[in-house]
Amino acid sequence: MACIFCEIIAKRQPADVVYEDDDILVFKDINPTAPIHVLLVPKAHVATVNDVDEAQHVGLMGRLFVVAKKLAAQWDIVGQGYRLTVNVGRGGGQIVDHVHMHLVSGRHR
Ligand code: AMP
Ligand code: ZN
Repeated sequence: MACIFCEIIAKRQPADVVYEDDDILVFKDINPTAPIHVLLVPKAHVATVNDVDEAQHVGLMGRLFVVAKKLAAQWDIVGQGYRLTVNVGRGGGQIVDHVHMHLVSGRHR
């Protein structure tokens, strides 16, 4: 099986999708740590930030931030603020080896 996020992107596994464009899929974290907790996932499989390629991925990674701020505006959480997190490697808390950005807002566990 491909990685779980590639399976979700291919629509072979379910997810609660809140945003999609040609390059990025955003869905709710299955185990949320706050009232708003979504994952912004580039559709291209890049395992970790260590695999981000300067020639290929700079625009894609930048667009994660643009989508994050648009969703924050849409969800009216710009004022209260939110957290964007990218975990890298097991010691950095990364469990799923497909680059993703957590967008978390509200009360924390
Ligand atoms: P990380 O620790 O940064 O790799 O985060 C992986 C996140 O993916 C965790 O917060 C998990 O709860 C979440 N997750 C794992 N599998 C799924 C899934 N099938 N659908 C939604 N979120 C998932
Ligand atoms: Zn993948």
